[in-house]
Amino acid sequence: NENTLKKFYIGSIDQGTTSTRFIIFDGVGQPVAQHQIEFAQHYPHSGWHEHDPKEILSSVEQCIENATQLFIDQGHHISDIKAVGITNQRETTMVWDTNTGEPLHNAIAWPDTRTKELVRELKEKEGAEKLHDICGLPLSTYPSSVKLIWLLRHVDAVKQAYDEGRLSFGTMDTWLLYHFNGGKKNDLHVTDATNASRTMFMNLHNLEYDDRLFDFFGLERAKLNLPKIVPSSCPTSFGALTYGPLKGIKIAGCLGDQSAALVGQQGFKIGSAKNTYGTGCFLLYNVGEQPVISKHGLLATIAYHFGGKRKPVYALEGSIAVAGSGVKFLMNNLGFITHSHKISDLAASVEDNGGCVFVTAFSGLFAPYWIDDAKGTIFGITQYTERGHIARATLEATCFQTKAILDAMELDSGHKLAELAVDGGMSNSNLCMQTQANIIGIPVDRPAMRETTALGAAIAAGFAVDIWKEFDELKEINQKDRMVFEPSMSKEESAKMFKKWGRAVQMCRGWLD
Ligand code: ADP
Repeated sequence: NENTLKKFYIGSIDQGTTSTRFIIFDGVGQPVAQHQIEFAQHYPHSGWHEHDPKEILSSVEQCIENATQLFIDQGHHISDIKAVGITNQRETTMVWDTNTGEPLHNAIAWPDTRTKELVRELKEKEGAEKLHDICGLPLSTYPSSVKLIWLLRHVDAVKQAYDEGRLSFGTMDTWLLYHFNGGKKNDLHVTDATNASRTMFMNLHNLEYDDRLFDFFGLERAKLNLPKIVPSSCPTSFGALTYGPLKGIKIAGCLGDQSAALVGQQGFKIGSAKNTYGTGCFLLYNVGEQPVISKHGLLATIAYHFGGKRKPVYALEGSIAVAGSGVKFLMNNLGFITHSHKISDLAASVEDNGGCVFVTAFSGLFAPYWIDDAKGTIFGITQYTERGHIARATLEATCFQTKAILDAMELDSGHKLAELAVDGGMSNSNLCMQTQANIIGIPVDRPAMRETTALGAAIAAGFAVDIWKEFDELKEINQKDRMVFEPSMSKEESAKMFKKWGRAVQMCRGWLD
């Protein structure tokens, strides 16, 4: 019952693309204490995007410390925190020296497009067409594999470590788990199946590394220290925090951020979907216990794997590289606004987009288009154009891509979505969510508590330590005060807008550097 459940707490590390959070949830899924830190984004060249692995680690440590202090100040006891879960930005690629634990390069973040040429080369290679069926992903600049190859080709220290068999590879989950478990002292080197499914090294059908993939990429598996792939919810695989205020507490859940959001939104049934508008925007659609390999530009991925007698659950995914980062671009690069949340007021200062379409292809275009050489392009500028029109066009860009993804999902699954559950930073904009409902013509449903990514990792951890045993027990969590945006635009009008978007997409490709 609610009163006994409230006495349990679960910590959740949410290591996102632009910020890190640590949130302590109670047994009914409400956050009781939290702390958030933004960390530096490094853009050393056009198209490059890096994170400092040590800065990220210390941001997590700091968030744990501050949130725990708040928790204690509220009169709670650390001993009531039963477990910690981790969720993280996916694909972002880390390399470190197995012998010293020291990073050998900055992390290459998922939106980075430095591998554009490399991907073009790989697409020509024999066997390229077979990869998709094995791992569920198309060849693009997005997965970890191409980022790792770039590092091996361009960074001497990485190549040398590889040649000498001391190169550790991992995604952000692996890096954090390694450190919190004492680094090289315990040398815990694991990842969960959702994160592994984004590397392009994992066979989606059996959740194991596949030699055909390593062979294609020309990698010798024996020379790489690869993280062991384990289920996302597990009381033993992820070790425990070995230092800091939560020392000794078990880490029991680990999910890539988009999987965590699906779990946090309780998308446990076949046919349920969620769309998370963070730095990028990611739509995950639960397809059940068999993978569906997309024929229309979507990714096949592991939705979650709760282990034990539960089979892995798969999703079709539509990934959009730029969502909230477009808002940040208007703020940081163009000085249109002083805070992200002000985008809605600016967009509301005009009635419509005034004829502007902004293809925010800063990292090329991801799903369902996969155009690596697209560049951000604004069409339709005249003397009439104001900042408000561009603000609207920026929000609309994500809404149009979501529409394109839903169309592709319908073709792949033969099923039309009835309603879209949403979350993430940009979903705070009512104007954006109303626009989304107008463009897709179905209701958009937003929970009051929007930390669903962190909640998902907490749920995975909670299952591992038996706080919950069945998904049904979560039914009440985060259901109060949801807001539903009903479509309020004619079908003709939204179809006209979407057609114009489609033309703009075709016109922004083929830019030479
Ligand atoms: P991530 O986990 O990828 O770091 P978040 O879910 O924290 O992302 O969302 C952050 C993004 O959301 C930022 O890019 C920010 O510009 C955008 N954002 C935050 N609040 C708003 C808002 N009220 N309206 C529009 N965009 C917003």
